[in-house]
Amino acid sequence: MRTRWRATHVLAHRDGGHALLRDGEIVWEGDTITYVGRGYDGPVDAELDLGEALVMPGLIDLDALTDIDHLVLDSWAPPARAAGLLWSQEYFDHRRRDAFTPAERATVREYALVQLALHGITTYMPIASEVHSAWAEPYDELVTMAETSRRIGLRGYLGPAYRSGVNVARPDGGRHVALDEERGRAGLRDAERFLDHTARLSDPLVNGVLLPCRIETLTEDLLRGTAALARRRDVPVRLHCLQGLHERDLVRETHHATPLELLARTGLLDTRLLVPHGVFTDRHPSVHGEDRGDLATLAAAGVSVIHCPQTSLRYGQVLHSFGAYRRAGINLCLGTDSFPPDLIRGMDTGVHLAKTADGRADAAPAEYYVEAATLGGARALGRDDLGRLEPGARADLVAFRLDDIRDGVQDDPVRTFLLNGTARQATHSVVAGRPVMTDGRIPGTDLTNLRRRAQELFERMREGYAERDVHRRGADALFPPTFPPFEETASR
Ligand SMILES: [Zn+2]
Repeated sequence: MRTRWRATHVLAHRDGGHALLRDGEIVWEGDTITYVGRGYDGPVDAELDLGEALVMPGLIDLDALTDIDHLVLDSWAPPARAAGLLWSQEYFDHRRRDAFTPAERATVREYALVQLALHGITTYMPIASEVHSAWAEPYDELVTMAETSRRIGLRGYLGPAYRSGVNVARPDGGRHVALDEERGRAGLRDAERFLDHTARLSDPLVNGVLLPCRIETLTEDLLRGTAALARRRDVPVRLHCLQGLHERDLVRETHHATPLELLARTGLLDTRLLVPHGVFTDRHPSVHGEDRGDLATLAAAGVSVIHCPQTSLRYGQVLHSFGAYRRAGINLCLGTDSFPPDLIRGMDTGVHLAKTADGRADAAPAEYYVEAATLGGARALGRDDLGRLEPGARADLVAFRLDDIRDGVQDDPVRTFLLNGTARQATHSVVAGRPVMTDGRIPGTDLTNLRRRAQELFERMREGYAERDVHRRGADALFPPTFPPFEETASR
């Protein structure tokens, strides 16, 4: 089966870099791109003229939200309420439970994966949504998620999240990591079992990886075990670290080392490691405010940093800086991390955050971000056949329409799109040559029904914070509205 797309703009790949092709054509056969250019004269079985549109490599999201949402709830709270969003020690000791049944969890995952697809993402690595679970992510849940992912047709890098401990809030306002080390060891065993499962599936769309939770929630033994398993099976490891001062303090207290030193000591610091956020290195003003070698260490080890500009901004954080990390030779890739999984808005946010961090307009231009979302992601996964549109590469691509008057006038299609657009303009996507999104729809998915069910589950999830809160405050106290309800103002 040979398919051809035409569009006014194609982000093609040639001589080792992206190149803008005007009025271009892209042809693929099976899962492989066979032609990118103009004036293809061979026979085709199917054809689509996208008109005024940008066709580019499918977006790679390596810190992909696979939950309903959380940022809408947890990115506003003053310190006194923020502690209420953690588990309490008492909840940890006596009452921890799953907020959702396995069937409901499957719906949550379906909702999230459909969102990724609708936003033009073709390859993803999910983030854990363990706050609503009795511990981390059960093996069976990931097996089910892999099936949902295959049905939708996305390219996933999956594994059950695991940890030895949980950040809990104490009644005195402090917090610490409460441990259950056996759960951590069982999690690592399940992670290995899942690698076996994906090997048996032998489906190029389901790849097994190791996804431990945050560095401060893993014992040194579990970090070492993770590094050893990654080496033995030669699979990527993604570990949240260099994420905040609290993490840095905890790691120094527990291990007498900085997070980066702990990574090195446990054998994790190598090319298989992907670090989401990676904000709190020595250059960060709250750490040392100057380069003392952290970036060179990360670059020399071949670590990839997953930058999540939109999420960072919404939690009030900035990478110091995209340009400095890139110049140091660190492979930068992108993640969404929170809702909406819109890497177009994310890239635009990143461009402007970089200007703020470095104080110059060319600090990290649009093209750097597009490279991170495509080639950088592919490099992090060790894939030179993803993130690029050229013959021989996998046919993973997405089309964004550019024909709405609200898109503004067109100059350079990439720059204009990032400035004025959103990933909601995605209309068609293809993974391994097979359609995932067609005319803005995901075949086989009832979006109206999914939206309704997700809203119901979200309401329950929101209520669930109350039972975990150290002061058992109700959801309406933890998440007060912007303005008072109309009825209440009348009775004042
Ligand atoms: Zn994250």
